[in-house]
Amino acid sequence: METSNLSVKDQEVLNDLLEKVKEQTSLFLGYPVSKDFNYQGLMDFLKYPMNNLGDPFVTSTYGVGSRELEKEVVQFFAELFRAPVDNWWGYVTNGGSEGNLYGLYLARELHPKGMVYYSEATHYSVQKNLHLLNMSNIVIRTQENGEIDYEDLEHTIRMNRHMPVIIMANIGTTMTEARDDVGKIKTILKRLAIQHYYIHADAALSGTYSALIEPRPAFDFEDGADSIAISGHKFFGSPMPCGVVIAKKSNRDRIARSVAYIGSVDTTITGSRNGHSPLFLWHTIKRLGIEGLKSRALHSLKVAEYTELKLKKLGISAWRNPNAITVNFPTPALGICKKWQLAAENGSSHIICMPNVTTQHIDLFITDLEAQIELVF
Ligand SMILES: *Cc1c(COP(=O)(O)O)cnc(C)c1O
Repeated sequence: METSNLSVKDQEVLNDLLEKVKEQTSLFLGYPVSKDFNYQGLMDFLKYPMNNLGDPFVTSTYGVGSRELEKEVVQFFAELFRAPVDNWWGYVTNGGSEGNLYGLYLARELHPKGMVYYSEATHYSVQKNLHLLNMSNIVIRTQENGEIDYEDLEHTIRMNRHMPVIIMANIGTTMTEARDDVGKIKTILKRLAIQHYYIHADAALSGTYSALIEPRPAFDFEDGADSIAISGHKFFGSPMPCGVVIAKKSNRDRIARSVAYIGSVDTTITGSRNGHSPLFLWHTIKRLGIEGLKSRALHSLKVAEYTELKLKKLGISAWRNPNAITVNFPTPALGICKKWQLAAENGSSHIICMPNVTTQHIDLFITDLEAQIELVF
């Protein structure tokens, strides 16, 4: 690494950190982050203060940015998620959490007296977002696999039928990658004759590849979602956290109007926005295309199937949700969790077979597990 004007000591600090990052990256199975990217071709952009401040679809007087590419990224995801033609909008966020905040913000502006329903397995950031937005909310039970309990949802909505319904649906929960079925949720709303509702899909984890697999899970705009958030650093992979949120343009316009009152089209959560992250997403879209992304998804599913099988062969009760790349199993010894950076919750852990994970990685992990098992018996 070349850095100018640093003392030898400070340079050493950087070198040490780089070594540590390299090492930690190589053994990494527990978090949903792809590492198989090469954005070397974009290095020169680091020389410039790229900032897409404001709405990507409204030009800004600040010209050093990547708005044009950001718009292409947004369009790609709007089409992938079957957003209504000529009625979509979105932007590149700092991650899935910001996209979820945006979805809830839109929902609140449309239904200020709405009640938010979300399952126990919902990402921890959602509760904070609800707190920030001061929205009334009710937690719904989950089924064994992490999917929302539709009976509990129906029962709870029925008791609050006088209030508009805002649903935060999980398209891949953090722990077990369970998908709430947006089609089933819509059926419930219909059955209860709910007139005013909004469905946001937290597709941070599995949004992108859910659109590419068969059978296609019910989660997108055609299935009934009003907005969808994904994380860009997960399935796509990027050196810094980023994400995309897609919403209906007509809904976004209502927010834009209310803020136009203070003399601005400040439609995004933050003012200054990362002008580099759209480049990474754009680069991956162009490099892989739909077909490349699809084979990436199929590779992950295959490795997940392999992992589940291997663990079962060891006598470990591993399991997976349908079409999930997350393999769940009882939390192994602490040393193994630390080495492979496995998260643990209530005695359960998982390996997430992101596109960079290969069967060789899994074999190494299995060898560690075997050694551990021998140690115990
Ligand atoms: C990762 C994740 C989030 C948060 O996304 P960030 O990009 O980390 O902000 C939200 N929900 C789910 C289900 C996730 O997996």
